Amino acid sequence: MIENRKFYINGQWVDPVTPRDHNVINPSTEEPCAVISLGDQGDTDAAVAAAKAALPGWMNTPVEQRIEALERVLNAYMERSEDLAQAMSQTMGAPLDLARSGQVGAGGYHLKNFIRAAKAFEWEAPLSDRNPETRILHEAVGVCALITPWNWPMNQVTLKVGAALVAGNTMVLKPSEETPLDAMIFAEIMDAADLPAGVFNLVNGDGVGVGTQLTTHKDVDMVSFTGSTRAGTLISKAAADSIKRVHLELGGKGANLVFADADEKAVKRGVLHMMQNTGQSCNAPSRMLVEASVYDKVVEEAVAMAEKVQVGPASEEGRHIGPVVNESQWNKIQGLIQKGIDEGARLVAGGPGRPDGLNKGFYVRPTIFADVTNDMTIAQEEIFGPVMAILKFDSEEEAVAIANDTDYGLTNYIQSQDPARCNRVARQLRSGMVEMNGIGRGAGAPFGGMKMSGNGREGGSWGIHDFVEIKAVSGWSE
Ligand code: NAD
Repeated sequence: MIENRKFYINGQWVDPVTPRDHNVINPSTEEPCAVISLGDQGDTDAAVAAAKAALPGWMNTPVEQRIEALERVLNAYMERSEDLAQAMSQTMGAPLDLARSGQVGAGGYHLKNFIRAAKAFEWEAPLSDRNPETRILHEAVGVCALITPWNWPMNQVTLKVGAALVAGNTMVLKPSEETPLDAMIFAEIMDAADLPAGVFNLVNGDGVGVGTQLTTHKDVDMVSFTGSTRAGTLISKAAADSIKRVHLELGGKGANLVFADADEKAVKRGVLHMMQNTGQSCNAPSRMLVEASVYDKVVEEAVAMAEKVQVGPASEEGRHIGPVVNESQWNKIQGLIQKGIDEGARLVAGGPGRPDGLNKGFYVRPTIFADVTNDMTIAQEEIFGPVMAILKFDSEEEAVAIANDTDYGLTNYIQSQDPARCNRVARQLRSGMVEMNGIGRGAGAPFGGMKMSGNGREGGSWGIHDFVEIKAVSGWSE
C-alpha cells in the first residue's frame, strides 16, 4: 500500500504540520490502496505564503518563458502517463483503457491547447487605432486556489494549472481527497519541469478543511473550482467576504434531443456516452428526449445497448465500465434508482443492486428508465452514475422546453439530420455547450456552463481569459 503523507510546498515535499491520516479506498475492491494526510490551517498558510512570495517573479517572467515552462510540464506529463493512469484507475475506478486514453489523454490535450492558445493570445495591445496611448494589459490575477473533483481528475487539474501557469499566476492545488495519488504524481511532474519554487503548490485535504481555508484566505485572489453545485454555493459564500474572483464548473443534467430524423447511430452513441466513466461526467447526456413517432423503437434500441455494457474491475483492460467512486455515491445512486421506480418511471434495463457476479466493489447496473416525466426526481437531480432517463416529446418547441426545464445548463445534445433545425434548436438551448450529431467540439473550444452549472469557461484561450486581470493604462508610449 502506498503511504505518502507529504505536501508539495515551495518546491519541496514537506511533512504536514499535524498529520491526519486518510485512507484512500480502491472502489473496485473496497480495500484501502493508500494513506495520505489531510492538511490543516498551518499547511494551507504555508502553501499560500509560498505562492504569494513567488508571484512577483512569476507574473513578471516574460510570457515566452512561461510558455516554455508549460512545454516542459507537457513533456514531463507525457513521460508519467502510465503512472497517472494506474493511479486514477486505482482510486476512482476508471478501467485501465479509459484511464490511459480518456483520462490521461485529456490532460495532455489541454496542455497542448494552452501552449497553442498562449502563443496566439493578445497579452497586450492598444485600445484601438484611435487610442494608441491607451494600452490594455492582460496580467495574472494573483494567487489562485485550484480545487478539483475526482471524476476526471487530470482533465480538471490540467485545465486549471495549465491556464493559471501560462497567465503568470501562482497557485495552490487542492485535489479531491478521493484521488490524491494522481495529483501527487502531477506535483512531481511540476517539480521535474523546474519551475521557480512556490509557483505551484499542492496540499491534500477535504472541503471543510483545506478547501474552506483556501476559499476564505485573505491572500488568495481567485478560486477556480470544479465540483458539485452544493460545494460551489458554499465556496461562493465563503469567498464573498474577501471579494475573490470565483470561477465555478459545476454539475449538469444534459438533455439529448433525438428527433425522428436522427442518424442511425444516434441512440447507441447517446447510451454509450451516458455510460462512459460509469456515468460520472458532468456533461453526461442523462436525459434522452425522444420524438413520439420513434419513441418505442428508440427505447428498444437503448435497452439493447445498455444490456451490452459490461461492468468489471478497473484494474482490467477492456471496454467495460468500472465501479462508481465510493460507497456514498453507490448509496446515493441506489436511492435514486429506487426513487425512479417509486415515482412511476418504467425500469427497462438494469435496476437496483450490483450486477451479477460482482458482490464486492461499488458496481452499479447500467440502468435505463423509460416514460420519465421531467418533474420526476431522476429527471431533475444529477445522479452521477450509469442511469439514463428517457422522456417523450411531440414537437420541437416541447423538446426545447423540456431540455431547458432544469436548474442546470452545461451541455445539451441534438440528433437530427436537418441542419436548419439543428442550428435553430442549438440557439434556444440554455447551456454553455451544445453538441450536435456526435461531432466533438474543436480543440481549444470553451468548456463551461450556464445557470447552476457555473460561470467559468475552461480550455484554450477562453481558459486563459479566466485567469487574467484586464488593466487599462493611459499615456502609454511605445
Ligand atoms: P465535490 O463538490 O464534493 O468536491 C469537489 C472538490 O471540492 C473536492 O476537492 C472537495 O474536497 C472540495 N470541496 C467540497 N466541499 C468544499 C467546500 N465547502 N469548500 C471548498 N472545497 C470543497 O464534487 P465531487 O463529488 O468531487 O465531483 C463531482 C461533481 O463535480 C459533480 O457534481 C460533477 O457534475 C461536477 N463536475 C463538474 C465539471 C464541470 O466542468 N462542470 C467537471 C467535472 C465534475
